[in-house]
Amino acid sequence: MRDLRFLGEPLLAGAVWAVLALASDALRDQLGAVLLLWAPSGVAVAAFLGTRRSRWAILAAVLLPIQAVAVWLVGTPIDHAFAYSVASLVQSIIGAQLGIMALGGRRSVPRRFRQVGGLFVAAVLGALAGALVAIPFRAEQTLAEFAWWFLANVLGMLTVTPLLLLARQELGLGPKVQQFAFERSLVPFLLGGAVLALVALQVSQVALMPLLVAGIVLATARYGQQASLLLILIYAAIGTWLSVVTGTPMPLLPMPAAQATLVLQSWLLAMLATVLPIAAMLLKRQELQYELQERNLQMQQSLMLFNLAEETAGIGRWRLNLVDGTQDWSPQMLEMNGLSRSLAPDPGDVRGRLPDGGEELFRQIARHRDEQDTYSFTYRVRPSHQLERVLRMAMRNEFDRYGKRVAVFGVAMDVTEQVRREEALDNARSRAMRLASEAQKLANTDPLTTLPNRRCTFDRLESMIVVAENCGSPLSAILFDIDHFKSVNDTHGHGVGDAVLQQVADMARAQSRHGDIVGRIGGEEFVWLVAGMSGQTVRQLAERLRSTVEKGPEGSNLPRVAISVGLAHVRPGDTCESLLARADAALYEAKGEGRNRVKRAA
Ligand code: GH3
Ligand code: MG
Ligand code: MG
Repeated sequence: MRDLRFLGEPLLAGAVWAVLALASDALRDQLGAVLLLWAPSGVAVAAFLGTRRSRWAILAAVLLPIQAVAVWLVGTPIDHAFAYSVASLVQSIIGAQLGIMALGGRRSVPRRFRQVGGLFVAAVLGALAGALVAIPFRAEQTLAEFAWWFLANVLGMLTVTPLLLLARQELGLGPKVQQFAFERSLVPFLLGGAVLALVALQVSQVALMPLLVAGIVLATARYGQQASLLLILIYAAIGTWLSVVTGTPMPLLPMPAAQATLVLQSWLLAMLATVLPIAAMLLKRQELQYELQERNLQMQQSLMLFNLAEETAGIGRWRLNLVDGTQDWSPQMLEMNGLSRSLAPDPGDVRGRLPDGGEELFRQIARHRDEQDTYSFTYRVRPSHQLERVLRMAMRNEFDRYGKRVAVFGVAMDVTEQVRREEALDNARSRAMRLASEAQKLANTDPLTTLPNRRCTFDRLESMIVVAENCGSPLSAILFDIDHFKSVNDTHGHGVGDAVLQQVADMARAQSRHGDIVGRIGGEEFVWLVAGMSGQTVRQLAERLRSTVEKGPEGSNLPRVAISVGLAHVRPGDTCESLLARADAALYEAKGEGRNRVKRAA
């Protein structure tokens, strides 16, 4: 049983064909009706269009006997009946094959003028071939008979085929080829069309025919292809009914029924040729609309994802159209800049609303007028009642094809935390460096006099000796020691002794020049290192220092002290120790000779 299932549709098609053919014949023969279109032709073409090409042979094999028997039943000789059946199959196969070629497949409906044209050609060529096969077997072999046969089949194929394919789709028998939505208001519309046709086809005094055309165009525009095909069928049915009642399908025409039939058929065909392209165009438009909606939806979803990604990454997005001034702010970007998220996408003039008036943003945009690459900058915003935020902006210019900048696009990242960390790190680093340099200064400085201490003085002397040796320039050490300092301490106390030490240090420092070193190398013992001066000048300097100390600063109420000075000039091969040892020897000499004097080393 299962193996015979493939016969189901061909048998159904055959049955429908036979019922329609018998009914049509009965109408014509029993009631004397004029048939304007031959509906069975549409059934056969629809059957082929609804069947895979590999099964066409089976379909033809099933249809051939059914059609022949049906025609034989109404009294046609069996050989004629077979000829008509062959004619019907030839017509259907040619029509279906050319139709598939025009549409580019079995599962589509016309969406382009070219496709509609192709369908007309398919129907015309199919009907021509069928008529050529059938006419020799007709009782009347006139041109009028040929024309009627031809037009009835063309109309049958063009109107009934698409409606059947649609019905098949709606019954779930075939693949979905078209969006279909039945509207209730179509029924009164079709009824109105029927009444109008009933009147229009009879009344010649008032030209109502254009109203039928208007109706069918309206039906197409409002309800689509199906409605226009149904209206054509209704017009044809009304014509047939009128022919039963009045003897002619178009009583308004003062001519024989056969001629009026051809006129009405041509007229129906012309209407089809008018509305089918319109229907195809509308379908195409509907499809584009649908596609556009779909794409909009996709874009909205992408945008949502993009916004979500932005939020998660803490990134804001901004675009300014420089041509029309429109802006596109992402909610995140607005928030980062201290504005309400609800102002997205275009908050209008933001200069008045941004915490800094957007100054940095717009300044950078103006500055990078011609920049082709991405540029970035950092700016700070302090939204009211909030902490200052630091934003890093990466921007890109958009140019038109003439090279004119038309828009700027940028993404902003909140780098506040990062910047705060960097700043804290910088602060800590500079504090550490300051502390280190202070510590070094402390380590090199004598706290009482703030002069370089012994170690530092020796270090400096060492490098001065190297320079002096390399350049062959003079270097002298003026070593001095306060005379009888112990008695100052003893008489006035240690505090006064300290003050005296400071005063002597200040006087020596005041006399030294830039590049000299005055250091404290012992309790009340100092050295003044003088570079680049002749021995005579150095002696004068030493003498001047001695006399200055002896006189004491003006207005000072500290006890007067004096110093003894030992002078030594550097010699090749000298070390700190050897140079200072000679100066010390001279100092010792000065002490020995009664103090408060300058002695030069031998
Ligand atoms: P001379 O003329 O031979 O140099 O005699 P003097 O008393 O200056 O020499 P002496 O070496 O006998 O004494 C030096 C004194 O300096 C001993 C010490 O108490 C004092 N002294 C050393 N350092 C300091 C200091 O930082 N402050 C004070 N107030 N006194 C100091
Ligand atoms: Mg002393
Ligand atoms: Mg001393």
